[in-house]
Amino acid sequence: MHEWALAEAIINSAINIAQNKNLSKVESVLLRVGEIQQIDLDILSYAIKELSQGTLLENAHFKYKIHPAKIFCHNCGNLWDYSESFSKLQEEEKEAIHFIPETIHVYVRCPKCGSVDFEIKEGRGVWIEEIT
Ligand SMILES: [Zn+2]
Repeated sequence: MHEWALAEAIINSAINIAQNKNLSKVESVLLRVGEIQQIDLDILSYAIKELSQGTLLENAHFKYKIHPAKIFCHNCGNLWDYSESFSKLQEEEKEAIHFIPETIHVYVRCPKCGSVDFEIKEGRGVWIEEIT
């Protein structure tokens, strides 16, 4: 499951950051999760809890913030909300994008000119915003 792989990466980098800051204990970690990743936050937070056992993140409180995605069309310069396109997709298409975000180019078109020559501007990946 990619949530587990992601949880592992998050924990490793959070530990890294905490060590670099000389923190002996981590109270909370704020994560920003890109909308386009379509991550199952229940699975992710469960995985994080499990994997942080015995580390300095053991009792840390993880908070999640969804970062909205925007799509920019190279052809006409249109910038639109990912959620606008996403709500029109079929379940299988959403699923495909969840596993392979690149497939978005197969299913989504610019609502203005119909081009598939676009890029995702924001809302990709997961990153650590704050550690206390
Ligand atoms: Zn366009």
